[in-house]
Amino acid sequence: ATPMSIMVASGRGAGAGVLIRDAEALERFAGVDVLIVDKTGTLTEGRPTLTDVEPQDMEEAELLTLVAALERGSEHPLAEALVAGADARGAARRDSTGFDSVTGKGVTGMVDGRKIALGNAALMADLAIDTGALADRARTLQAEGKTAMFVALDGRPAGLVAVADRIKDTTPDAIRALHDLGLRIVMATGDAEATAQAVAGQLGIDEVHAGVSPEDKAALVKKLRAEGLSVAMAGDGVNDAPALAEADVGIAMGTGADVAVESAGITLVKGDLMGIVRARRLAAATMRNIR
Ligand code: ADP
Ligand code: MG
Repeated sequence: ATPMSIMVASGRGAGAGVLIRDAEALERFAGVDVLIVDKTGTLTEGRPTLTDVEPQDMEEAELLTLVAALERGSEHPLAEALVAGADARGAARRDSTGFDSVTGKGVTGMVDGRKIALGNAALMADLAIDTGALADRARTLQAEGKTAMFVALDGRPAGLVAVADRIKDTTPDAIRALHDLGLRIVMATGDAEATAQAVAGQLGIDEVHAGVSPEDKAALVKKLRAEGLSVAMAGDGVNDAPALAEADVGIAMGTGADVAVESAGITLVKGDLMGIVRARRLAAATMRNIR
């Protein structure tokens, strides 16, 4: 690679909000076979909003009051969505005690002397809570691409809440263009299988890995590389940083965490997947000029 052509490419990229760290990152990106994308905040806006509240044997307002009291202690985007949704629907304000968060599963604590747990099926299984008929409702919501969370009170199912996160306007076109540029596209998400499949289906994504932890994402990158593939990973969160660092090319969505940006070869300032399309075209054109 001539320094001049790389410099020209970098300049063009920067003008389009695509920051390329060095010549190596650009060269490597031209040879990438597989792009792994995080769902939340990468394919979607990353700003979930409350869509469904389904109490079992209690009023909606009471369920929301309990949920919000617990989630006020959490900094998870899902928690922010639930607190904002509860406030908007006029739920009362309460405090919780003994708050605890279970990474990748949910949160637990006490509100008004009652034990409350809120999270996914794995959390309910850990607590030996039988979700019964709620599990079917959760699946229906997940098939709509929503994230459903179970609520349990004193060890018994009490209802569920669901949030939806809009797919970014530019995502469908970007996925099509990336396919045309010869990339295989794999989704990796901490969200449930059914939710992930619904979103992937809408976008024509080739492969889905759901319910994965940040370590799982990094392990997936490693596994594909061991198969001889050149892998790029795009993500926005602090928890995506290990996978970004493991990839041949890490792509940070600029709207995300600083730590993600630090582990990235490419940074998309606008956090828009079209930036990856631009970077790929730029990389291919630069390599053509050089050869
Ligand atoms: P993501 O990869 O989408 O950021 P996480 O790994 O953080 O997801 O969480 C996985 C799942 O665990 C969520 O989809 C949700 O069901 C549950 N969960 C995690 N944190 C919370 C929370 N604060 N409140 C409710 N549910 C949660
Ligand atoms: Mg995320």
